[in-house]
Amino acid sequence: MDFAFDARTEELRRKLLAFMDEYVYPAEAVAEEQRAQLASPWDTPAVVGELKAEARRQGLWNLFLPDSEYGAGLTNLQYAPLAEITGRSPHLAPTALNCAAPDTGNMEVLAQFGDEQQKKQWLEPLLAGEIRSAFAMTEPEVASSDATNITTLIERDGDEYVITGRKWYISGAMNPDCKIFIVMGKTDPQGADIRRQQSMVLVPRDTPGLEVRRAMQVYGYEDHSHGGHAEVVFDHVRVPVSNLVGEEGGGFAIAQARLGPGRIHHCMRLIGMAERAIELMCRRAVSRTAFGKPLAQQGVVQNWIADARVAVEQLRLLVLKTAWMMDTVGNKGAHTEIQAIKIATPRTVVDILDKAVQLHGAGGVSQDFPLAELWASARTLKLADGPDEVHQRSLARREIKKYV
Ligand SMILES: Cc1cc2nc3c(=O)[nH]c(=O)nc-3n(C[C@H](O)[C@H](O)[C@H](O)COP(=O)(O)OP(=O)(O)OC[C@H]3O[C@@H](n4cnc5c(N)ncnc54)[C@H](O)[C@@H]3O)c2cc1C
Repeated sequence: MDFAFDARTEELRRKLLAFMDEYVYPAEAVAEEQRAQLASPWDTPAVVGELKAEARRQGLWNLFLPDSEYGAGLTNLQYAPLAEITGRSPHLAPTALNCAAPDTGNMEVLAQFGDEQQKKQWLEPLLAGEIRSAFAMTEPEVASSDATNITTLIERDGDEYVITGRKWYISGAMNPDCKIFIVMGKTDPQGADIRRQQSMVLVPRDTPGLEVRRAMQVYGYEDHSHGGHAEVVFDHVRVPVSNLVGEEGGGFAIAQARLGPGRIHHCMRLIGMAERAIELMCRRAVSRTAFGKPLAQQGVVQNWIADARVAVEQLRLLVLKTAWMMDTVGNKGAHTEIQAIKIATPRTVVDILDKAVQLHGAGGVSQDFPLAELWASARTLKLADGPDEVHQRSLARREIKKYV
């Protein structure tokens, strides 16, 4: 077994690490200062545009897309260590490289299932980083971890679909640059096959009847850097039938296809967050003295740091194995591993971040360190893209099936 990265990955890692040091970390404070001056906190700070231009110039662009026609053409195994590096600054670096959720999943959907017109109108500006997008599935009124529960209606009326429903936690939608929504709803609510009732349609932001109603909070704060998580109402929104993505009844299958790569990207970035937490823990531990000795000399602190290192090494191996399996046997073949990393990674990284917060005392929960925001981001990933329990249930079922 060869644990080394190949030459292309090493080259991109080298470039990306330098880009992070030179441009991304210094931009973190600048972005916050600029945001405070903006007319709306949901607008994009100017420094983000500068980062994007520089990343693109350096060829650090669309690295997530395995399709070489549209993206960098990297395998999951090649992309994994790069996504990890961007996770060290998850509110800036993925956007700078045009590798941020939910655009990544949406671009994958359009590249895989969109027709030529849809690609031209929406995929091209997304690939160029000119617009942002949102994916609207979850609804406040129903348990949306079970996609068959979705109630939003997509009714055919002549050459149009009429969409009616209410969604929430639609990431990115507060950002005015978010110009297109991929909406999941039911075209055949009475259909016999509950997994063929759903379809996906493209809804441009300015379509009459679409209202971005409010920003949902995350642990009491508004997640400006991700373009927020909006409640969105669709009140008899009309779009041409040509806005259907794929085929009628294909929504459930597209959602499944979309979430595989998305989950591994989140896990890769989470490992980067954990690495940043370990670095901050160590720096703090050597520079702060309590009761006559540096915190670094306290056994309990050493245990936290050691346990964090062990956990990160384990997680990284599992994530890389999953990436390799997705490349070699496909997303379906890597089902168990994708679920395993989706369960293990947020849980473990939340724990590491919690220790890092503790070690920083009050500073840990403050805005002066990135830890509190990283903790909240990691914690939400125990819900987003499907709650842990749903993955545990399906993984356990597959495991048990071998014995019945
Ligand atoms: C920060 C953030 C960003 C998000 N971004 C988006 C987005 O961009 N687009 C979008 O459409 N959605 C988004 N979501 C929504 C997210 O995908 C859903 O919250 C998630 O799928 C769970 O659905 P739900 O909230 O309806 O919870 P429910 O389905 O009501 O589930 C609640 C709880 O019930 C338990 N549960 C459910 N099923 C099982 C089971 N089979 N076995 C055991 N326990 C179970 C779990 O503990 C679960 O957490 C986001 C959420 C957050 C927090």
